Amino acid sequence: MKPPFVQSTCPHDCPSTCALEVERLSEARIGKVRGAKANSYTAGVICAKVARYSERVHHPDRLSKPLRRVGEKGAGREAFEEISWDQALDEVAENLLQAEQRLGAETVWPYFYAGTMGLVQRDGIERLRHAKGYSRQYSTICHTLADAGWLAGHGVKRGLDPREMAQSDLIVIWGGNPVSTQVNVMTHVAKARKTRGAKLVVIDPYRTGTAEQADLHLAVKPGTDGALAAAAVNVMLAEGLADRTYMERQSDWDDELEAHFAQRTPEWASEITGLSVEEIVSFARLFGAHKKSFIRIGYGFSRSRNGAANLHAATCLSIVTGAWQYEGGGALYSNGGIFPIDATLIEGLDVLDPDVRIFDQSRLGPVLCNDPRDLGDGPPVTALFIQNTNPMVVCPESLKVRQGFERDDLFSCVHEQFMTETAAMADVVLPATTFLEHDDIYKGGGHTHLQIARPVIEPFAECRSNHQVICALANRLGAEHPGFEMSEWDLIDATLRASGLPSAQSVYDDRWLDCALDFETAHFSDGFGNDDKRFHFKPDWSAIGVDHADMPRMPGFMDSIDAAKSDRPFRLVAAPARTFLNTTFTETPGSLKREQRPTVLIHPEACKRLGISDGDKVRMGNELASITLHAETFDGLQHNVVVVESIWPNSAFEDGIGINALVSADPGPPRGGAVFHDTAVWIEIV
Ligand code: SF4
Repeated sequence: MKPPFVQSTCPHDCPSTCALEVERLSEARIGKVRGAKANSYTAGVICAKVARYSERVHHPDRLSKPLRRVGEKGAGREAFEEISWDQALDEVAENLLQAEQRLGAETVWPYFYAGTMGLVQRDGIERLRHAKGYSRQYSTICHTLADAGWLAGHGVKRGLDPREMAQSDLIVIWGGNPVSTQVNVMTHVAKARKTRGAKLVVIDPYRTGTAEQADLHLAVKPGTDGALAAAAVNVMLAEGLADRTYMERQSDWDDELEAHFAQRTPEWASEITGLSVEEIVSFARLFGAHKKSFIRIGYGFSRSRNGAANLHAATCLSIVTGAWQYEGGGALYSNGGIFPIDATLIEGLDVLDPDVRIFDQSRLGPVLCNDPRDLGDGPPVTALFIQNTNPMVVCPESLKVRQGFERDDLFSCVHEQFMTETAAMADVVLPATTFLEHDDIYKGGGHTHLQIARPVIEPFAECRSNHQVICALANRLGAEHPGFEMSEWDLIDATLRASGLPSAQSVYDDRWLDCALDFETAHFSDGFGNDDKRFHFKPDWSAIGVDHADMPRMPGFMDSIDAAKSDRPFRLVAAPARTFLNTTFTETPGSLKREQRPTVLIHPEACKRLGISDGDKVRMGNELASITLHAETFDGLQHNVVVVESIWPNSAFEDGIGINALVSADPGPPRGGAVFHDTAVWIEIV
C-alpha cells in the first residue's frame, strides 16, 4: 500500500501560504511534499525548497535537546552541554525573573518574527509579553513601509483576488520576483497569457527570473519607482488614456493634481529612474491601452526609505485608467485585511498595557548597544527570549547586533530548529518543532484562504512547540491568561469561534476556508477604505505615521534614498535568493548547491572600470562596514546598481560579516520599516 499524503500548510514567510500534501512514510518520517491541486490558488504548484522539505525536517543538524552554553558565545554546538527540559525552563524563568527584579519588567524583551506564519506558534509570545508587561515589539522588518503606501491611497489593507489574474489582459509585477519568492503568482500569470494572450511587464532593478519571462522589463534604479509611476500618469493624461469619470467619482482628483502631473514628464522621470523616455512612454501606453490590468505589488517597495511614497504612486495607475471597474483589473499588495480573526486569546490583547515601552525590532542592534534614542529613560535590555527569527543575520546594522549579543550582562534564550548564529550566542537554546509537528492556523496574505494544519509526524527527538514553551514559561513566571491553559487546538477553535467563523474541526475537514470578498467589495465599487470612500492621490500621511513631515503631498519622487555618490557610487539591492527564505533553508543541501556562495552581480561596464573579472574576490562597503564576497558580471541592471541575493549566514562570508552589516537601521518614514534595498556602497577588487 502506498504511503498516504496528509494535508498541511506551508508556514514560511511567503504570501503564497501554499496548501500542501505531505507524504507520511511513518510516524517519524516524511517523503515527498507537493501542492494541493484542489486549492484554486496553490493549484498543485509549490517551490522547490519546500518540495524538498524532507531535507530540512530530517536534517542531521536539527536541534534535538535543550542546551546550556558552557563555552564561548558564537562558537557553535561544541560550546553547549545538554540539559533536561525542566532544567532549561527553570533556568530561563529564573533569569527572566531576576532581570525583572533588578530593573523592572521592561528590561525583558521577547523578540520574534516570521520564521513561522502560523498565528498560534508565531504570535503566542505576545501573550507572554503582555501578561508580564515586558517591553513591546514594533515589527518593522518586512511590511511596514509597504503597508503605509497602500493604506495612504486605499485606506484598507486588501486588494484583488489573485485568481482574477486569469481575466487580465496586462499583468504588471512591480517590485517582486515571484519566480523566486512566490511561485504561484506565475501559475496565474501563465493562465492569463495562455488563455487571453495577456502581456507581462516586470518592474525591478535587475533582470530576475520573473523579468526574464516578461514582454517588457523596466530595470529602474532602486527606489525611483515613484517617478516612473508619476510619468506614466502624465502620459496617460496627455494621450487621453485616463478614465476621468472614474477618477472624479472614486478619488480626490482635482486641478492641483492635474497641474502636478503635467510637470512629471517622461524626460523628468528618465533622469531619475535611469530608464529611457521611450521605455517610460511605452509602458504608459501599454498600461493605458488595457483596462483589465492587474498590478501585483511586491515587497521590494518595502525596503526603501521612500518605499511608502513609491508604492502609493504605483497604485495611482489603476485609478487613472479606472481598472478597478473590470474583472481582472486593479491591484494587489496584500489581502491580510480580509481575514476577520480576533487575536485576543492568542496574543493576550486583553492584558496589553499601552504604557509599556515599545522597541522597533529593526533597531535591535542600537537597542542592545543602549542607544539613548531607543532606550530613552528606560532600563537597558538585559534579557531576551527569542522565537522564530535569526536577528544576528537578518537585522540591519548586524555588527551592532553582534556587539549587543556579546554583552556579558545580557541573558538570552533562543528557541530554534537549528543552531543559528543567534542561537550560538544564547545562554540557553531550546529545540523547536517544525510545522509538520504541531497545530496552527494560517492566513494567506497573497490570496484569500484561511487554513488549519495538524501534525503530520511526531515531534523530532525532544522538540517542543512554541506554544508549549510559552505556556511552560508562563507557569514558572507567574503569568496568567486563559490562553496559557489551553492546547493549541483549543486555542485555534476558540479564536475561530470568537471571530464568528466555523469551528477548527470544520475548517480542517473542509481543508480551507475561502474568505474571498464579493466583486463589488473587492473592487472598491462601493468606495475605498477612507472616510470619504475615495482613493487618495493626496494622502493624509499624518494619519499613517508620526514621521510624516517629509512625505510628498502628491505622487512623484521622494528624494530621500541613500543615493550613489562619488565615494559610494553603487546602489545595492540585497534581494532574496531563490532557494533561501530569509535565513531558512540556508542549511539544506539542495539550496546550498543552487546558491553556491555569496556573490555580487555587477554590470560588465562597471567591472571593466574597476578591473574586476568573473569570480574575483571583491570588498564592498560603506560607513557601517565592509564585506568580502565574489563578483559575477551581469548585464541585467543599470551600471551603478549591484545585487547580492541572500540571506546568507554571516559565516558564509570570508570575514564572517554578512550583507546586513551594510544596511542602516534608520527607520523609513512615515512609520518605520527596514531599508534593506537602500544602500550606497563602494566596491574594490581584493
Ligand atoms: S511558494 Fe511560498 S508558500 Fe508555497 S511552498 Fe514555497 S515558500 Fe511555501
